[in-house]
Amino acid sequence: MTTPIEQITVECSGCGHRYEDYHRRSMNLALDDFDDDYIEQMSTTTCPGCGVKRSIGSLVVQEVDNTWVFEV
Ligand SMILES: [Zn+2]
Repeated sequence: MTTPIEQITVECSGCGHRYEDYHRRSMNLALDDFDDDYIEQMSTTTCPGCGVKRSIGSLVVQEVDNTWVFEV
């Protein structure tokens, strides 16, 4: 399943900046045809203070050649 967009507050462990970002906990590509840029945007966060990009850890599920592939 694909979870709705959640607003999250992120505190950067590098510079201590706090900011809000959007995130999806899981994305099922068999149900929703998200492109790579969108998946990247929803599964990572970039600190506006220092520019460091981190993975939030979304679960991405997609079907490849009839095999379910889970990426975290
Ligand atoms: Zn930062």
